Amino acid sequence: GDFPVEVDTLVIGSGPGGYVAAIRAAQLGQKVTIVDKGTLGGVCLNVGCIPSKALIEAGHRYHDANNSADMGISVGEVNLDFGKVQEWKGSVVNQLTSGVEGLLKGNNVDIVQGEAFFVDDSTVRIMDEKSSQTYKFNNCIVSTGSRPIELPTFKWSDRVLSSTGALALEEVPEKLVVIGGGYIGVELGSAYSNLGSEVTILEGEKRILSGFEKQMSQLVSKRLKKNNATIHTEAMAKGVEETENGVKVTFEVKGETQEVEADYVLVTVGRKPNTDELGLEQAGVELDDKGLVKIDDQCRTSAENIYAIGDIVPGFPLAHKASYEGKVAAEAISGEASAIDYTAIPAVVFSGPELASVGLTEEEAKEQGYDYVASKFPFAANGRALSLNDSEGFMKMVTRKDDGLVLGVQIAGKNASDMISEACVAIESGMTAEDLALTIHAHPSLGEITMEAAEVALGLPIHMV
Ligand code: FAD
Repeated sequence: GDFPVEVDTLVIGSGPGGYVAAIRAAQLGQKVTIVDKGTLGGVCLNVGCIPSKALIEAGHRYHDANNSADMGISVGEVNLDFGKVQEWKGSVVNQLTSGVEGLLKGNNVDIVQGEAFFVDDSTVRIMDEKSSQTYKFNNCIVSTGSRPIELPTFKWSDRVLSSTGALALEEVPEKLVVIGGGYIGVELGSAYSNLGSEVTILEGEKRILSGFEKQMSQLVSKRLKKNNATIHTEAMAKGVEETENGVKVTFEVKGETQEVEADYVLVTVGRKPNTDELGLEQAGVELDDKGLVKIDDQCRTSAENIYAIGDIVPGFPLAHKASYEGKVAAEAISGEASAIDYTAIPAVVFSGPELASVGLTEEEAKEQGYDYVASKFPFAANGRALSLNDSEGFMKMVTRKDDGLVLGVQIAGKNASDMISEACVAIESGMTAEDLALTIHAHPSLGEITMEAAEVALGLPIHMV
């Protein structure tokens, strides 16, 4: 019965997919409306990338304050006011979410608060607590993200936490059990381990971070264990019993049942795309058997004027992928010939040490039949890494044998998350090991590791025999 509001491009969801798509679409001349049922910035800014990195940094500082005696620095009692840490974390998040609001407004994007539901392929109904309004759109970009998977045997509670709950704790748990040794479990487990928790990780696979090369994930396990954490691999979490002020988690390792008590249990066993409560079927948008939206290489769904990006489409569920796809979708709507190409998309874990990977691993190069060279350079042979008192780790560079084309780079070590960008540029622009070796890198810097790994590929490293 209401009069529909007519809009040009409608973006649903304001996470790193949606808000970036909205800004790019506006830059290209579209009149954009963005709707979110929650807070601007989505999971990434509010309960994902940013708050987790803030907690990880607090963990590093606290841990380092207590562990720098080998550098000649020892302090008396180091006090941790976790309430203050949380307040600081909140201020970082607020700064960024209000920044997003400013950017959207600065680009004349209309912001609507409410939950969107498709009525057909050009209409949504947007509801907030009080009212409901129909919107007609020319084009729509859907970026509704994902939510944590809840296990039937581990129902969310004050003690059974999702990543969101774990980020919002008001105290550092004395003991914390983490179910799932993927990147979210490892990052949050490491943060609390650095903040003083006794952490137990239960992982179903043979090793944690199984998406990365074995040697890389082994460095992370080693660091966690050194920090008093326990890792059970090939472990099946069975159930949880809430005690008076904690939990008792039952799990099975090789047919043997075990128990561990803790203050909290964090369950990070994967995320589910938010594609089930949106009326996508009414718009003719097809999903695959995992509930992900099927898209073409311009992020167009089976409905011609509806695009989908981010965690609701196949591929790594990572913020920079969502943003990248958001730009492609916005450009496609503007008639540009943009298309997605994931060749140079990085994957990063902010563990200790950090892990990062882009392009092909050695194993993938082998599988794909490349005649390749895999060259490794250790952080321990880099002066900057030593002076940072953090020289554990390595870079591995995979290059094509005949011409040195960089196919992939894997890094385990300090600041791998920043170092990987150079490798992304190299792969994106089709550079060779020689290009990287010929590039003058500032001394002393971790970037020199990239130059030297390239020199290893050429058989000419200076700081390695
Ligand atoms: P989201 O960020 O999930 O945003 C979706 C938005 O849509 C939300 O704001 C939601 O309110 C809104 N919405 C949903 N349904 C509707 C509806 N019907 N109507 C209106 N609005 C709706 N990625 C990285 O790259 N690096 C990291 O370091 C990293 N760390 C992470 C740490 C944690 C703890 C978690 C949980 C995730 C992390 N991620 C990280 C993943 C990253 O957060 C996601 O990949 C990213 O947020 C996906 O962006 P998106 O735009 O697809 O959706």
